[in-house]
Amino acid sequence: MSRQPLRLAIMEAERILAEAGVASPRTDAELIAAHVLGAERGKLMLTPLVDRQVIEAIGQLVHQRAKRIPLQHLLGWAVMGAVTLQVGPGVFVPRPETELLLEWGLEFLAGREHPVVVDLCTGTGALALAVAAERPDAEVHAVEIDPTALAWARRNMESSRVRLHSGDVTAPDLFAELDARVDLVLCNPPYVPVGTAVPPEVGEHDPFKAVFSGSDGLTVIRHVVNLSARLLKPGGAVVIEHDDTHAESVPELLATRKVLTDVEDHDDLAGRPRFATAIRTS
Ligand code: GLN
Repeated sequence: MSRQPLRLAIMEAERILAEAGVASPRTDAELIAAHVLGAERGKLMLTPLVDRQVIEAIGQLVHQRAKRIPLQHLLGWAVMGAVTLQVGPGVFVPRPETELLLEWGLEFLAGREHPVVVDLCTGTGALALAVAAERPDAEVHAVEIDPTALAWARRNMESSRVRLHSGDVTAPDLFAELDARVDLVLCNPPYVPVGTAVPPEVGEHDPFKAVFSGSDGLTVIRHVVNLSARLLKPGGAVVIEHDDTHAESVPELLATRKVLTDVEDHDDLAGRPRFATAIRTS
């Protein structure tokens, strides 16, 4: 049977994906090819020629990706820090920019022994699991409201010690047992203002309530600020991801709480305002 150059198949995939408006057509084409071959993306060159079935399998996935189904749904996984998470319909796909919150949080925890960490709006469990992987001494809690997302988190946490809770971050008594006990609150909440245009991968495949939060995008964040002020121990920190239109509003919300201090805002790698941090006064 005829074997064909993988390089040409990837070039063709890239062309189709670019035409469909996919943001990173080359990367996606290579990751699809690697997935079909069961190879690492960086080692694709070691397989110059492939069978027709491989070309066809790549073509089928490219066809679906061109319909703007998220790449992570097609591959079945996404990465956060040292952790690979199972993802699919009904749960928010972890994004690379959220790794910045993880990095900030891990740096903050350096030198603290047996820290208590809470991940609010955990989704797949990404932030909680990534912290647990780096800090075997940490007591890590995660909360999620949506039953479908919870099922994904449960699957991802099967062999983990993260304590997963079904709960609502807007409930006044959430985590009452952790009041003033928490070293670090991490949160990637829904924050996009309702009505904002988003790409089809987000608008048609991420759960609406994992992405959008009121006309100003701040409905859930307001609760997260209050909850964090209650949960943090003196000297503990909160890290909240936000929209690039929130560079002033989220720091302002944090600053309204007298127990929070050292409020800072941070950019992502593209230079857009992306997350805010604050420390509980001692
Ligand atoms: N920044 C994300 C996006 O659109 C939204 C993230 C979120 O709501 N947490 O892609």
